[in-house]
Amino acid sequence: MAVSGLRRQHLLWMWVQRVREPSVCRFHVTGGQQSKEHYKVLVLGGGSGGIAMSARMKRKVGAENVAVVEPSEMHYYQPLWTLVGAGAKSVKGSGRPTASVVPSGVKWIKSHVQEINPDKNTVRTGDGKEISYKYLIVALGLQLHYEKIKGLPEAFEHPGIGSNYSVQTVNKTWAALQNFKEGNAVFSFPNTPVKCAGAPQKIMYLSDAYMRKTGKRSKANIIYNTSLPVLFGVKKYADALWEIVKKRDLQVNLRHNLIEVRADRREAVFEKLDSPGETVTVEYEMLHVTPPMGPPEVLKGNPLADEAGWLDVDKNVLQHKRYPNVFGIGDCTNLPTSKTAAAVAGQSAVLDRTISKVMKNGQPDKKYDGYTSCPLVTSYNTVILAEFDYNLEPLETFPIDQSKERRIMYHMKADLMPHLYWHGLLRGLWGGPGPYRKLMHLGMK
Ligand SMILES: Cc1cc2nc3c(=O)[nH]c(=O)nc-3n(C[C@H](O)[C@H](O)[C@H](O)COP(=O)(O)OP(=O)(O)OC[C@H]3O[C@@H](n4cnc5c(N)ncnc54)[C@H](O)[C@@H]3O)c2cc1C
Repeated sequence: MAVSGLRRQHLLWMWVQRVREPSVCRFHVTGGQQSKEHYKVLVLGGGSGGIAMSARMKRKVGAENVAVVEPSEMHYYQPLWTLVGAGAKSVKGSGRPTASVVPSGVKWIKSHVQEINPDKNTVRTGDGKEISYKYLIVALGLQLHYEKIKGLPEAFEHPGIGSNYSVQTVNKTWAALQNFKEGNAVFSFPNTPVKCAGAPQKIMYLSDAYMRKTGKRSKANIIYNTSLPVLFGVKKYADALWEIVKKRDLQVNLRHNLIEVRADRREAVFEKLDSPGETVTVEYEMLHVTPPMGPPEVLKGNPLADEAGWLDVDKNVLQHKRYPNVFGIGDCTNLPTSKTAAAVAGQSAVLDRTISKVMKNGQPDKKYDGYTSCPLVTSYNTVILAEFDYNLEPLETFPIDQSKERRIMYHMKADLMPHLYWHGLLRGLWGGPGPYRKLMHLGMK
């Protein structure tokens, strides 16, 4: 009797807590070691997509009903790293404390997601906490795999090698560029999906420009070894880039994949993807590595993932294909478009609408067209602004030929876009340029 009385009291206490906090409840299991929390909307990952969606969900369901799980103290605007690697911006200017970008009132759970159980609507974090949710937004980004190249990451301890893809190695690119005297400057593109597929070659154009400015270009042999069979996936921009490559005497080798770095001898080994078993060894004075990339570890083998490990979402409405209360945004998804922050912006507006509909038991109606964008930096003052959709068709905002190198686009990339990111996208106020495109094309696009 006493036990059942206690149990009734406990249930009553839980009920009172629920009434006081409609969607957030925390019950502490006796012993005090483990705690359990519940949120109406739980966001996994506090990068571009995670913070943008936290801000949007805060407006929809109230800050106290939203939580974001993110382990990092710092949030970085990664697109700036292209310019950091070329010495045009500082790495410090690319980051802000995570505490300052998590929308006020939204709970920041400073831990990493260890396990997702979509059948029970729960997530377990690295510190053993179990969190349950009504709606889940997965925004875990992708994982860099430097270790899949033999000799890395140790080779980064040697001079002459850098990578714009990580905050730890981006300044090493700038050091390698400044210290370059003569020889081969080599740039790689891996045999996996990547984020910002233009970034591996942007740093090549910037390095070329830097060497011209500093009088070293005549002593440099610039080589771009890419696993891809093309220079860029969209023909209109690829044609423009091939012209630049020819004009500036940059050597492009297609279907070459970096597999080993022998930093003590300054050698990079590439496999020729179209001639199995055949390799080429290139001596370098400077090497820029774009690492292999893959889905987040926690998704691999999870019921939420497709066979390759990416979050399996509907490409139109961004809702999970089998779990209707789960949604995805950004690099961790299997959306068949180029993985960029610009794509995240376009996706955030669609996902906002999809979730609204689902919360009201309606059918999602707004469709994502695959919009993505890549400002192809071709020098310290020019950019080709590539914008395109799922069909790799240009989807340009401005009523001018965007495949031309333009100074104004460089200023957009270097000066305007960071503001749009920090004050627009991350606050859930920027959903991509769709409405402006319509306006600029007088409603024709
Ligand atoms: C060098 C470079 C240049 C780029 N240039 C451009 C550009 O010019 N234009 C453009 O639009 N985009 C560019 N991008 C790409 C852009 O930065 C990404 O596509 C974008 O940030 C993706 O957002 P996301 O939210 O999917 O992932 P991210 O912003 O990477 O966020 C993922 C978050 O998930 C967190 N996380 C990971 N695992 C866990 C876990 N287990 N538990 C909890 N949290 C976890 C991470 O800490 C991270 O904060 C560039 C990227 C790089 C690196």
